[in-house]
Formats: sequence, C-alpha cells, structure tokens
Amino acid sequence: MSEEETCPLCGRVLGTVNIDRHHLIPKTYKGKEQFPIHKICHRKIHSTLSERELHHSYHTWEALRAHEDIQAFIAWVANKPPGFHTRTFTSNSKKQRR
Ligand SMILES: [Zn+2]
Ligand SMILES: [Zn+2]
Repeated sequence: MSEEETCPLCGRVLGTVNIDRHHLIPKTYKGKEQFPIHKICHRKIHSTLSERELHHSYHTWEALRAHEDIQAFIAWVANKPPGFHTRTFTSNSKKQRR
C-alpha cells in the first residue's frame, strides 16, 4: 500500500485518484500491455496524438516524452498534486485576464 508508483509520462507519484491505464500499443493494434498513468496525462496523450501516430511513432514513453506538446504539458503538470485533474489544458497558458 505504501508503494510509490510513479507515472511513466510525467514521473510524479501516481497517488490513488484519477488513474487511468494506457496501452502503449493501442488496443486497435492488439496491444495488451497496460500501464497505470494519471488520468490527466492519459488524456493529454490522446488529445495530442492519434492512435495511428501512437502506433507508428509513439509507442515508447521516451518518444512520448520527447514530443514537444507533451514536454510542455509535463513541465506544466510537474507541480500539481497527484490527484489533480482538469478537463482543459492549454499548452501556451498565456494569462488572458484583464
Ligand atoms: Zn502523470
Ligand atoms: Zn491510452
């Protein structure tokens, strides 16, 4: 129970809430291996890349983490608590308040 599992995408501790599983090889392509990952990180992967791209070029965590948008996301999420979740993430979070 005290196992500190970390997220393969962002490297933060997984925590106990808002956890998903990601298939590095999409189910459509007969991928079977699943990895626990933050829901928010998972969402980011799928909003950034199509299953085709995932299958062809982004079937390793290294490749995913090297993606420009995902790098920005990782930097952004780095200081958030493990269970943090939001529906929207904008990679260029310019403050638009006036
Ligand atoms: Zn994560
Ligand atoms: Zn997934």
